[in-house]
Amino acid sequence: MSLKLFILSPHFDDAAYGLTLHISGFIKSKLPLTIINCFTVTKWTAIPVNNKNITTISLLRAKEDAAYNTLFNLAIRFINLNMLDAPLRNGYIFQFKPFEPNESELVEELENKLRDTIEMDESILLCPLGIGNHIDHAICREAVIKLYGKMKVLFYEDLPYAARITYDDIKNHIKELELRLNVKFRNNIYGWQNCTIDKELAIRQYKSQMNDDICREIIGHMHQLSGERLWGEAEILNQLKEKMLC
Ligand SMILES: [Zn+2]
Repeated sequence: MSLKLFILSPHFDDAAYGLTLHISGFIKSKLPLTIINCFTVTKWTAIPVNNKNITTISLLRAKEDAAYNTLFNLAIRFINLNMLDAPLRNGYIFQFKPFEPNESELVEELENKLRDTIEMDESILLCPLGIGNHIDHAICREAVIKLYGKMKVLFYEDLPYAARITYDDIKNHIKELELRLNVKFRNNIYGWQNCTIDKELAIRQYKSQMNDDICREIIGHMHQLSGERLWGEAEILNQLKEKMLC
């Protein structure tokens, strides 16, 4: 069976920050890869820019994805779902309370879009763990929790947020997710020794979001692990491992 891979990326840059080594491995292994960007209507930049117009910034950020894709000879397919990002909705970014009604609607909308987009029988979806409580990441995770069991899912560590907490904190986060899904998770580290890609160069394509501190956190996390870590059920982790060339 041919395996298709989908990465759910809340924003334009999350897949790259969390999964560049994996992405490089998928492409080297000739596995078809689609990155689904959710909240792509945005005026958010981490670095000050002159024109904070929504159309301009959304376009600028899509161009950063295109620059990233050139590092992989344009082998990545991108789907942008054009949902409004957090600052354009309820005005806050971090979630400290249950979902608001409009956020629950977004969870449902996203669940339906994923159902329409992903060939569920022959795919693995990589979803952010939601570490860091960014509301857009939480919405992504919630939509995937609703689909869990209907398709194969693995979870990746949100960066730079995962670099700001201890391993025990990450483990507690995983424990909560396991309880919610009633499953047991293992983890697997895909090592950088498998890769020729320069992750720092790759994530620096997201110029409007990147500064030296964020870059240091993301690359530091990779050094600490000697790679990138995925979490999920052993059978699904193994299925992916078998398909990846080293
Ligand atoms: Zn994000």
